[in-house]
Amino acid sequence: MERQGNIRISSENMMPIIKKWLYSEKDIFLREIVANASDAITKHKKLASMGETCGEDAYRITVTTDEKQNTLTVEDNGIGMTEEEVEKYITQIAFSGAADFLEKYEKAGGDGIIGHFGLGFYSAYMVSERIEIFTKSYLEDAKAVRWESDGESTYTIGDCEKETHGTKVVMHLAAEEKEFSKESNIRNLLRKYCAFMPYEIYLNPKGTEEDKPVNTPFPLYLKMPKDCTEEEYKSFYRETFSDFEDPLFWIHLNMEYPFRLHGILYFPKVKKQVELERGQVKLYCNQVFVADNIKEVIPEFLMLLNGVIDCPDIPLNVSRSFLQNDREVRKIAKHIVKKVADKLNELYKNDRERYETCWPDLATFVKFGAIKDDDFYKKAADIIIYKNLNGEYKPIKDFFGEEVSEEDAKAGKEPQTAYYVSDENKQAQYVRMFRENGLDAVIADAYIDPHFISYLEYKNPTRVRFMRIDADIAGALKEEGEADSELETIFADILKEKGVKVKSERLKDVGVPAVVNVSEFMRRMSEMNSFYRMGDTEAEVTLIVNTACPEVLAIKETGEQERKLAVEYIYYLALMNYRTLKPEELAAFTAESTEFLGKYLKTK
Ligand code: ADP
Repeated sequence: MERQGNIRISSENMMPIIKKWLYSEKDIFLREIVANASDAITKHKKLASMGETCGEDAYRITVTTDEKQNTLTVEDNGIGMTEEEVEKYITQIAFSGAADFLEKYEKAGGDGIIGHFGLGFYSAYMVSERIEIFTKSYLEDAKAVRWESDGESTYTIGDCEKETHGTKVVMHLAAEEKEFSKESNIRNLLRKYCAFMPYEIYLNPKGTEEDKPVNTPFPLYLKMPKDCTEEEYKSFYRETFSDFEDPLFWIHLNMEYPFRLHGILYFPKVKKQVELERGQVKLYCNQVFVADNIKEVIPEFLMLLNGVIDCPDIPLNVSRSFLQNDREVRKIAKHIVKKVADKLNELYKNDRERYETCWPDLATFVKFGAIKDDDFYKKAADIIIYKNLNGEYKPIKDFFGEEVSEEDAKAGKEPQTAYYVSDENKQAQYVRMFRENGLDAVIADAYIDPHFISYLEYKNPTRVRFMRIDADIAGALKEEGEADSELETIFADILKEKGVKVKSERLKDVGVPAVVNVSEFMRRMSEMNSFYRMGDTEAEVTLIVNTACPEVLAIKETGEQERKLAVEYIYYLALMNYRTLKPEELAAFTAESTEFLGKYLKTK
């Protein structure tokens, strides 16, 4: 016997609104329907374990696609429903649940609900024009029930034939949603949303030995870390992230108290370190996929990693802004950050060699993390390493000085200077001079280093000040000696038009006639201007004339014409060691060099 009824939903046109909002992610309906099937099995299993019913040997979910009929079917052998339950749970709860969802969504304004969690059964109407349910309760003597509705106003309910307990949901797809009746599409969606659901899911099984579930019901991250092998971690990584390269290492999160948190975070090899590469951190709730890269839950810098995180304690059907301010969620995020820092510290302490080998892949992540997250910086500050001029890795802290007390600072004491090289090739002359004089500097040539160096200064204002190796060569290599004002005047007069400042200094290196210095501050200003596209202003250049160099002193004794030639020549030599010459500079330098040659060689 069949009965008809009216669906009472608060808002007549709920579906158009939901469709509009979830347009790009309407495929979540599959997750919702499969998750319902999975819940129904869990309930049956629970009852069986309590002796209320007989358990099944093979709990399973079967998904079938039918392109001809344009249907998609999800069937489970779970608890099933009686007629009263269908009335209650489907006709009432599922529909009012969707109305609740809609209300929350509206309240959340534009920022939505993460992963559109909680829309439930009703979401299948996003793609179906009609849905049939065939269900039979596990209860003895239960009658099988068929329910059907177009989701809008009326439904039909009545008896049907069904042998076994469980529920079969047949979605009669709308004509324009044909894609959901294609096996390959459904396979992809099951892999995305249901990869770790706790019961085997079969797609169009043939009933032979060859049938394989599309999911992994007991994913590696749920195992105890001590029971997992290296190979298992690696293959889980390859399968989950379709990366052919092995990860560097991983962190297995495994916690039950005070909140449940399971997952594995992988440090991938960085391919090219030019810009920050995005990773993928997938968030799950009880083995059900929620969404990728949820910045409300997982600190932004951790998204450079690849990982899966399963955290059933995160409230998911609330607005994003609520999540962001939720104390529990912040605790979870903090815990993850701590675990990551612990892992890095452990590696640093126990296997420095490996840490150093991995560092090129880790550096960006650690530096970015330190800038973004103060807690992380505190925990990682001691294990941030840089190569020095001998190519050895040193903790950056080794380049800091003792803290300068307020008193000493008032008396003019400056924090220690740490020198850095941003481009070993371009700054080769300075590097050589440093090396020969037993001075050291760090190689800070990564994309993120200019920002990171400023950040280190900001965090350690009384302990360090960074200077690029060409910013203070005079300060670093100066020897006792008087300034030579005669030389300064000679050079300054000749170079007047070039806008160059001249200073004389006795340097430790007699073989270098002059070097260019650009103040760290001015250079950073001009770099910042060009970064923010505020025009390319060139920082003012100071030429340090080396009074320890005999050729320089000889200039005082030469005639006016040669003098001009020699001064400009020395200037270009110094400039060339600082930056690439501009075309007109190069032309002038070439002309002068030829003239010099002419003086040495006899020309006809
Ligand atoms: P939710 O799953 O969040 O409770 P739904 O709208 O998805 O909301 O489902 C409403 C109710 O319908 C469920 O709570 C459950 O009692 C019942 N239900 C849905 N699908 C099934 C199923 N496959 N087997 C048994 N009961 C189901």
